[in-house]
Amino acid sequence: TAQARLRNFSIIAHIDHGKSTLADRMLQATGVVAPRDMRAQYLDRMDIERERGITIKSQAVRMPWSVTGADGTTTSYALNMIDTPGHVDFSYEVSRSLAACEGAVLLVDAAQGVQAQTLANLYMAIEGDLTIIPVLNKIDLPAADPERYAAEIASIIGCDPQEVLRVSGKTGQGVPELLDRIVEAVPAPSGDPQGAARAMIFDSVYDTYRGVVTYVRVVDGALNARERIEMLSTGAVHDLLEIGVISPEPVPTTGLAAGEVGYLITGVKDVRQSRVGDTVTAAAAPAAEPLSGYQDPKPMVFSGLFPVDGSDFPALRDALDKLKLNDAALTYEPETSVALGFGFRCGYLGLLHLEIIRERLEREFNLDIISTAPSVVYEVTLEDKSVHTVTNPSEFPSGKVLDVREPVVRATILTPSDYVGTVMELCQSRRGTMQGMDYLSESRVEMHYTLPLAEIVFDFFDALKSRTRGYASLDYEPDGEQSADLVKVDILLNGEKVDAFSAIVHRDSSYSYGVMMTKRLKELIPRQQFEVPVQAAIGSRVIARETIRALRKDMLAKCYGGDISRKRKLLEKQKEGKKRMKAIGRVDVPQEAFIAALGAD
Ligand code: GDP
Ligand code: MG
Repeated sequence: TAQARLRNFSIIAHIDHGKSTLADRMLQATGVVAPRDMRAQYLDRMDIERERGITIKSQAVRMPWSVTGADGTTTSYALNMIDTPGHVDFSYEVSRSLAACEGAVLLVDAAQGVQAQTLANLYMAIEGDLTIIPVLNKIDLPAADPERYAAEIASIIGCDPQEVLRVSGKTGQGVPELLDRIVEAVPAPSGDPQGAARAMIFDSVYDTYRGVVTYVRVVDGALNARERIEMLSTGAVHDLLEIGVISPEPVPTTGLAAGEVGYLITGVKDVRQSRVGDTVTAAAAPAAEPLSGYQDPKPMVFSGLFPVDGSDFPALRDALDKLKLNDAALTYEPETSVALGFGFRCGYLGLLHLEIIRERLEREFNLDIISTAPSVVYEVTLEDKSVHTVTNPSEFPSGKVLDVREPVVRATILTPSDYVGTVMELCQSRRGTMQGMDYLSESRVEMHYTLPLAEIVFDFFDALKSRTRGYASLDYEPDGEQSADLVKVDILLNGEKVDAFSAIVHRDSSYSYGVMMTKRLKELIPRQQFEVPVQAAIGSRVIARETIRALRKDMLAKCYGGDISRKRKLLEKQKEGKKRMKAIGRVDVPQEAFIAALGAD
């Protein structure tokens, strides 16, 4: 397709406002998916996406669309649509998708209006200089209030309320008109078709059958089938085994021209050779300058991942290598724990990201995984002026602490005005500082807070939802660091530190953390031959204590009495159990106890 007849756009919206459903209707309206093959959220291909009903990976699809002009002539266009995730953890996916587009469909639920991620995504699109097409979705809902919310969107983006399109992803109403509008309003890609080939890798996926599949947006020149390609960052040259477009299954083509979005397969097996953000060029006439790549997203939350079965360690490494390929935000390095053995310290964008990685390791790679309590990144300065970056509480440096800095975020909360007081209370209890408030309308408020990341990543969102009966929405972005009165709490079993349970917490909540963990461990750890103290301590100062009482003599007697075969069975069982025991000093702890203690809320 000639460059002038290409249109590349993303669908952006707050989570659940109907992006994937609208994408379905577009696939249908343009005929790329036949009615009998249609299923809901067609592009959410991963099992986890389908089960949870959320989009995690962006998906690009090419669709034909013809427009009849005023003079009756028909022109056919190729539309590339990118469906994007809405959750705050995955906003970097959205930013990469936007970089491959000239336009964005900004979708807003007509019964809910603008929400926190609507704004966050809108600002990203404006920053990327994209043409924005405002659309109200779900107009079929009885609770829809299109007049009210069209005015809301219009006032935010500065357009006429009449320009806000109205569609239903459920019934398909308004979808053809939206496709027409995209053709009319979104500019054609502007790259140089004659220039040296430059294509941006915006995604890269490992496929068991086809090896590494790389998704690109060609900016200048063209990539042709059977040519050799070069990765500009490394100079590595590969044969192009296949090139094509996704529509919505892979369709091989003779090449991809400037402005086009598609995939390529090179037979590369090593996942690291096809890096998201790299520039692909033609090996015969390579481009001189790479395209400006993406900023690697910075992990915000860290936790240890350990295989339940220690012999799975190499398999875990291999699985992480593969997941990393299309997830630049995931980081990992080997870690050893007294309690849990060999594993990896992993970095994530947030808790949902963590959960999804763990779940993918379990189902796609069949691994049994334990993860330790999540932690943010702290910067610790000691009295000798040495500065330590701490992502693992058990590696908190010893020595006199001068200063501990923790990451903070700028949070935006959208809430009905009735809940302003409730939200303020919640934010205050999480060490938040109010930065201002804007009324979107009489009944809805946008509140701005600075909050410690550690206070917000774990259960803040749930607390916010339950206190506002689900009406408030939240978005946040990193906003530097601040000093805070943070301490490391250690958990000791019979006087020995259990590394997996160390935590860095605010001094005010250190006591309750200590009490909770000691209680929990007391319940989970079986009695020993001797009395075992379970303590929580800050440095050498004990702040909480429980005691696991010793096994009583008569219980032992009962166990080991009786007939000989029962006794042997018991001993054998014990031997089996031994393999799964971890010794913390003199105390034998079944691994399950650690898992349970880490898992419970
Ligand atoms: P996404 O998170 O933005 O991708 O949202 P989804 O497409 O997954 O949709 C979220 C929920 O809204 C699903 O239960 C859809 O069935 C529902 N939904 C989406 N579009 C419409 C619509 O136009 N009308 C109605 N009534 N429901 C819709
Ligand atoms: Mg979706």
